[in-house]
Amino acid sequence: MKFADSVCIGEAEELWETILEDVANDQLKERYFNSKPTDMSKAPMPNWRLLVSSNYLYTNTVLTSRGCPFKCDFCYNSCEYVHKVFRNKSMDNVIKEIQELPTRQVMFIEDNFIGNVPWTKEFISRIRPMGLKWHAAVSVNLVNYPDLIEEMRDSGCQSLLASRRSTKNPFKAFIRHRITLKDTKN
Ligand code: SF4
Repeated sequence: MKFADSVCIGEAEELWETILEDVANDQLKERYFNSKPTDMSKAPMPNWRLLVSSNYLYTNTVLTSRGCPFKCDFCYNSCEYVHKVFRNKSMDNVIKEIQELPTRQVMFIEDNFIGNVPWTKEFISRIRPMGLKWHAAVSVNLVNYPDLIEEMRDSGCQSLLASRRSTKNPFKAFIRHRITLKDTKN
């Protein structure tokens, strides 16, 4: 390879130990790829205390999931190497992760915070007593769940990031957004 000694494509958690062992044994391979989706319920919690917060714009980013039930063509979720399955992390671990943050301001910065609506509802009910101010990225089908929107507000939601392609977009023939009007029926 021209610009790197080795590349890990896609999800790395379950390969990381192997990669480190290969480095230690001077047997680093050019390419690593985990052919199966990582079991996010077993994903280790990040150790936020190791971060030098002054080196980062944000250190209050938390993921509750990986993937997205939609596979819009322009999004990396439609790439070949991305496993096509939405998974949530362990809810208990996510709560612990939030408790260890030095702030009550949290950004859920995954692809789609509402990829599994029943999970999200339960999660919101659990973080509600924590007095957080939180922000999240969601898919626009959230408009189909007005009760969820109210629960989000009541649990400290300050802002949501979502996008929907315009039907007048001249690139629509190339960029196939897999969220359709049916998904935003309200
Ligand atoms: S809804 Fe958003 S995150 Fe999901 S596939 Fe489409 S662009 Fe990607």
